[in-house]
Amino acid sequence: MTASEPLRGEGPLPLLGGTFDPIHFGHLRPAEEVRAALGAERFLLIPCGDPPHRDSPLTSAEHRLALTRAAVEGREAAEVLDWEVRAEGPSYTVRTLEWLRERLGRRPIVTMIGSDAFTQLHHWHQWQRLLELTHIAALRRPGAPLQSLEEPLATALAGRWAQRPEDLAEEPAGRVMAFDVTRLDISATEIRQLVAAGRSPRFLLPRTAEDYIAAHELYRQAP
Ligand code: ATP
Repeated sequence: MTASEPLRGEGPLPLLGGTFDPIHFGHLRPAEEVRAALGAERFLLIPCGDPPHRDSPLTSAEHRLALTRAAVEGREAAEVLDWEVRAEGPSYTVRTLEWLRERLGRRPIVTMIGSDAFTQLHHWHQWQRLLELTHIAALRRPGAPLQSLEEPLATALAGRWAQRPEDLAEEPAGRVMAFDVTRLDISATEIRQLVAAGRSPRFLLPRTAEDYIAAHELYRQAP
């Protein structure tokens, strides 16, 4: 696959980045619901290479990329972008968005972020630049309410809130919208802990990803 193939098409392009260590239904179902709400053909999954915001992931970028690919194999509604894994240096979202913006012209980009991460947005690298490059879709996640955002985030977002998905199609970037997606209390941490304890993670993630974990003996060691 060439790097630009996942970028084909028109209209708002929803994307979800993450460590995906491993990817699970708590990522996939909310992303699918935002895709449908936007009327987009597909969403992009972008596994990160070297994450700047947390301790190094336990699993190599190549395994996390392969897991992500396995999870959406044969599903046309989802595509995997390997750019962050292939790029040198730290995986800053702003860097990926600059790269995408160069290729997408004025096409709207909708970056999906779980509410836990969204409330910490003001700690991201060049966070104020993000809204020049993308819209943001905040996915409500169990245990992480979106009310009472901290400063300076609350002020930076004031006046940018959209109420309807169609609002995000009007401009390439700059709006924020909360999406009431199905709340799935699933985390990658929980899956790693289950596997390390010798228990099955079945039904928390796609079967293909579960099989990849078993075949490559991932997460057997407790951290
Ligand atoms: P970990 O448990 O290792 O911290 P995670 O399950 O939170 O991992 P990440 O790969 O760190 O997964 O998350 C990528 C993105 O998906 C983040 O924006 C995160 O907020 C969001 N996300 C993860 N799990 C969910 C979920 N269950 N519901 C909604 N959003 C989620």
